[in-house]
Amino acid sequence: MSPAPNRRHPAGILADMPNPEPTPATRLVTGGRPAHTPDAPLNEPVTFASTYHAGGDIGYGRYGNPTWSAFEDVLGDLEGGRALAFSSGLAGSSAVLSLLPDGGTIVAPECAYLGVLDQMRQLETLGRATLVQVDITDTAALTAAARTASMVWLESPSNPNLDVADIRAVTDAARAAGARTVVDNTFATPLLQRPLDLGADVVVHSATKMLSGHSDVVLGAVVCGDDDVHGRLDTHRRLHGAIPGPMETFLALRGVRTLDVRLERAQANAAELVRRMSGHPAVGLVRYPGFGTMCSVEVTGGAEAADRVVDAVRLWVHSTSLGGVESSLERRRRWPSESSAVAESLLRLSVGVEDVDDLWRDLSRALDSAGR
Ligand SMILES: *Cc1c(COP(=O)(O)O)cnc(C)c1O
Repeated sequence: MSPAPNRRHPAGILADMPNPEPTPATRLVTGGRPAHTPDAPLNEPVTFASTYHAGGDIGYGRYGNPTWSAFEDVLGDLEGGRALAFSSGLAGSSAVLSLLPDGGTIVAPECAYLGVLDQMRQLETLGRATLVQVDITDTAALTAAARTASMVWLESPSNPNLDVADIRAVTDAARAAGARTVVDNTFATPLLQRPLDLGADVVVHSATKMLSGHSDVVLGAVVCGDDDVHGRLDTHRRLHGAIPGPMETFLALRGVRTLDVRLERAQANAAELVRRMSGHPAVGLVRYPGFGTMCSVEVTGGAEAADRVVDAVRLWVHSTSLGGVESSLERRRRWPSESSAVAESLLRLSVGVEDVDDLWRDLSRALDSAGR
């Protein structure tokens, strides 16, 4: 007799292993796999299906898909909750904002991913919510605001200023006020920060970024600690239809398999580049939380000097988005809707897994051209 399928257990076959429980670096390799039975594939295949034979748990392609589930099992396990994949990060944040009671108050960062802030501004314009923006590095101001909130939305580290919030202090204050706390964990990934352990209710991800890791997927995910919230968001996804493609979730899970090794290299590269850039005359303020693969620099000489750096790189890619294996950079204020709390001269750098000396040769030469 073949063993019962164990894919539903996020740790896969390791569910049968004795303690201690394998670490996340192992579980992201072993999770979300088909049962270890003869001739079963090692990977959950891509299931292209709009419909399923009647009588089962899924039924229709807008309600579920085995390839989504494999990705969700692994991400949920890493974050310590239950995950739902969405068609993009913004589809996920939109679903989470639907949890807001009518006329509720959202406390959000002064500066965060612009699309998420635009969703909140739109709710305010429509008269459905009040938006209160605070400096998330000011814990006293943030916790005071949290006491008046229906929902506290954090992004930490934030995009692109790399501000860090004291998540635990905020979730305590929010819970006392009956508010939910949501944390956009895109920049940290569950390997560096687990917001649900710090008291958050919901975690959102742009899986487009570090989780997928290869700049070939647009995908979002939401992770909930609570079954009731999970159920409401699942219903929202069924009803509003912001479902992921099976191929996208396959690629994202394939990316997650190497998250630990990619992060290890890219983090070391980022730390070393921050150290080297700090001594360069074209670099004013360096924004770097001390971990992760993102850093931002304010170029002395302003926006024009920053644009010269971007034009001069050859190995680094000039593009928006982040979290890929390739190092990329952009001047964020080139986007008209970017917050004025972001300096005109700020370059956001997404550090990849290339050789650090090659990266530095290209970047330092480009920085040299900033002054010309
Ligand atoms: C990119 C990004 C988003 C939006 O995600 P999409 O997948 O582009 O919809 C949300 N939050 C952060 C922090 C991001 O970097």
